[in-house]
Amino acid sequence: MTCPKGLRNGPCGGTLDGACEVLPDRPCVWVNIQQKGYDTEGLHSPLDSSLTGSSSFVNFLTGRDKTTRLIHDYTRPKHVLSAKPSILARRLQTDELALTYEIASPKTTAGLDKVAITAGMMLGHIDAINTTTNAGGVPSLHSLETARAVAETGVPPIVQFCGRDQAPEEFESQVTSALEDGFANVLVLTGDWNPDTERELNPGHWFPMDSLQMVDIINRQDNYPKRPFIGVASNAYTTPMSVSLTRFQNKLAAGAHFTQTQVVTEIEIFSRWLNAVRDSEAGRACKILVSVPLIGKQKPWEILKHLPGVYISSQFGSSMEGSSELAKTGFQLARELIHDLSQLDIDGFHLMNFGVEVEAVVELVEEVRSDTKKPTA
Ligand code: SF4
Repeated sequence: MTCPKGLRNGPCGGTLDGACEVLPDRPCVWVNIQQKGYDTEGLHSPLDSSLTGSSSFVNFLTGRDKTTRLIHDYTRPKHVLSAKPSILARRLQTDELALTYEIASPKTTAGLDKVAITAGMMLGHIDAINTTTNAGGVPSLHSLETARAVAETGVPPIVQFCGRDQAPEEFESQVTSALEDGFANVLVLTGDWNPDTERELNPGHWFPMDSLQMVDIINRQDNYPKRPFIGVASNAYTTPMSVSLTRFQNKLAAGAHFTQTQVVTEIEIFSRWLNAVRDSEAGRACKILVSVPLIGKQKPWEILKHLPGVYISSQFGSSMEGSSELAKTGFQLARELIHDLSQLDIDGFHLMNFGVEVEAVVELVEEVRSDTKKPTA
């Protein structure tokens, strides 16, 4: 397998011009597979770690690898949402645009006080707060710990799970813990390459699960206290776009309820992607939160520009690069994007903070609340 992440249901969202996100001088193996016309619907299960080191020929003859070798139908969730959907799910049913925010998990528990202060400032302004795990591939506390600090302030968390962090069994039990804690929203991501790890093809770097498998694992559970509201990532700027659309439709078929897009920095390509998504029944039912970058400082801007899978339009990029007042320009660009995007068939915004003071984010949120509404269909 020539996917550095070892993905079995690729491609990941970072494919640009058919090249690999991790090794850009190589083609993405999954784009090749799709372009050759092979059917990529259905699901390959996570690899069975108990077969590591055994003979694949013998496993084939005995059928021991049948579950992982053959493609499966998705597990059909018994019900789409729990009897009482999450506050966020209900919010997304209204004609108001929902607003979510993101807090990166700190490296240690010492950082949880700051998390609580930020979440407390957002209470009453924002509909939910994502808590990350290993954002950008950098090790951190688990999102569940950060979610507990957020929930104590009264803001509902969206607990992010990352496929590269744990084995499927651990993931199942972490989701159970989240549900037992009363957290109703989860967002599953395949995850980023660890920036401190050499980029190479090495089976030791295989990600135990991808996001499609994670959605399916959640929906396979019969004994969860309730069904979570399941979110997945999507990227309008993956090229070719057909690859992004197929992957996203697969996630919806697997049982995802909402998506949070990769940051959007221009409207035209995004609109084309959105129209194509809304062209299917599953795409019309899906709730779409569009990520908007709020850039306030030079260093986070440099990080954003180089994140795998992030597309910065030339217009957005040159406005930022040519600015002598980066924070002011970043804020103005975010305002304009929100204004233009709110004319489209979306369900809300996910605000990603790259160095803006929290007070200023709250101000922007209030401005968005008073100025924008979902367009009527
Ligand atoms: S890491 Fe992503 S872009 Fe690279 S080969 Fe794998 S699926 Fe394709």
